[in-house]
Amino acid sequence: MGGGSRTIVVGGGFAGLAAAVRLVAAGREVLVVEAAKQGGGRSRSFFDKVTGREIDNGQHLMMGCYRETLSFMRVIGVPDDALDVQRNLAMTMLKPGGAKVELACPTLPAPLHLAAGLVGMRGLGLMHRAAALRAGLLLPGEIARPDDNETCDAWLRRLGQTPQIRAAFWEPLIWAVLNDDPLVASAAMLLAVLERAFMSSREASSLVIPRRPLSAVYVERAIDYIEARGGAVRFASPARKLELDADGRVVGLTLKSGETLATDQVVSAVPPQALLELLPEAAREHVVFRDVARLEASPIVNLWVTLDEPLLDRPFVGLIASPMHWLWDRDRIEANTGARDAPRDRSLPRMNPSTQASASGAEDSLLSVTISGARGFVDDQPEALRELFLGEIARYFPRARPQIRGFRVVKEKRATISHAAGTYRRRPETLCPIPGLLLAGDWVRTGLPATIEGAVQSGHDAAARVLDNS
Ligand SMILES: Cc1cc2nc3c(=O)[nH]c(=O)nc-3n(C[C@H](O)[C@H](O)[C@H](O)COP(=O)(O)OP(=O)(O)OC[C@H]3O[C@@H](n4cnc5c(N)ncnc54)[C@H](O)[C@@H]3O)c2cc1C
Repeated sequence: MGGGSRTIVVGGGFAGLAAAVRLVAAGREVLVVEAAKQGGGRSRSFFDKVTGREIDNGQHLMMGCYRETLSFMRVIGVPDDALDVQRNLAMTMLKPGGAKVELACPTLPAPLHLAAGLVGMRGLGLMHRAAALRAGLLLPGEIARPDDNETCDAWLRRLGQTPQIRAAFWEPLIWAVLNDDPLVASAAMLLAVLERAFMSSREASSLVIPRRPLSAVYVERAIDYIEARGGAVRFASPARKLELDADGRVVGLTLKSGETLATDQVVSAVPPQALLELLPEAAREHVVFRDVARLEASPIVNLWVTLDEPLLDRPFVGLIASPMHWLWDRDRIEANTGARDAPRDRSLPRMNPSTQASASGAEDSLLSVTISGARGFVDDQPEALRELFLGEIARYFPRARPQIRGFRVVKEKRATISHAAGTYRRRPETLCPIPGLLLAGDWVRTGLPATIEGAVQSGHDAAARVLDNS
């Protein structure tokens, strides 16, 4: 084995693909090795027999502030109509019983758009809206700045947030962006998102929803881009061990198949546990990797439910104070209507022609349900989750009588790392103690929580370090 000019990227999720795309664009020779038979990692889609549709492993949402992600998507040629970009941030939350709380930000410069949106929130008393506004005014100053040891719960209490505004605005946001309980999640991580999303520009806070299954949106395009520029992607090729020389430098990568690939530069874009397994035992003792071993995971459970009729009158809603945080009407999202609040037009084409008509001849409606930070549900049997679903639908949609035609549970036990207060310092930098090994992945230290944007940024950071060295 000897060093080579080829960079090997381990892992073909957002982070690995973003790193590889940057590198081939700069003329580097790149090989991506991916353990699974497909790319995409924790943001992937697959054909599901129960629903008869191509579904994602979980509904994914982005924001206008996902600068690195949107630029990556532009580079690989994702067409504009693959993403539904809100003009202004707007969302509807339902209280038990079905009453709506609506946030609709007007066309004003940031952060005025949010301030006006919060003050004008329909369905919430003035006192609660005023509390949110007060928090918004405190955000840019030092007085409100939390450190990573402060929980979101403690921070929101410090900012005088009422239980009602917490339930209708802050807590859904925290579960969504930090995938963890506000009682444990880090307020500093939340602030990092608030600053990017709400303080920079109006467009930054707009929600961006993929209209197509994720693999079609970005995975296939990224792979085509890499291969068209001389790079290669090998699926079903799990890496087993990083090879180091006597000085501890990277000289190769051995795959589970036994094949050893020579290289002096490896970008690891795998989750924390998978990275630790690649390292020689002695390297794992380094304090950086001992901290990695202490990162904990937080699960997400997604329910994909085919109903005999649509439940929602809009693409998505949040449920206030429910373990089922968000409901998504996939047909509305996939239909290229652009009319967010219009009732579903059944004449519009569906994304997947394989959608099954039910025995009665009526078309099924596909709903996706997100349960974030799902520690209390991830070990439940599908029957228990179906009971939960029916109970919550009865609570929030008392007049609806949907019939379930198909029920599919997708559990991601290690959906993201936990962003419990005090976790950030355990996340490693791109440059790690092993020369020639660069770390990427949504869990690496990017200043962001473990999200698509964090993953893509980490991939771009790792690619930049490779290019610095060449
Ligand atoms: C259900 C769910 C919903 C989510 N919702 C959102 C959302 O709405 N918005 C958002 O921004 N983020 C969301 N996320 C988080 C987002 O999916 C992740 O942050 C992102 O996909 C992480 O990408 P990654 O490349 O860092 O890691 P991964 O996607 O985990 O990629 C790592 C890859 O490495 C491969 N691998 C592992 N071990 C080896 C090995 N030994 N050899 C070779 N390959 C290996 C894996 O197979 C995988 O493909 C969600 C996550 C889940 C699970």
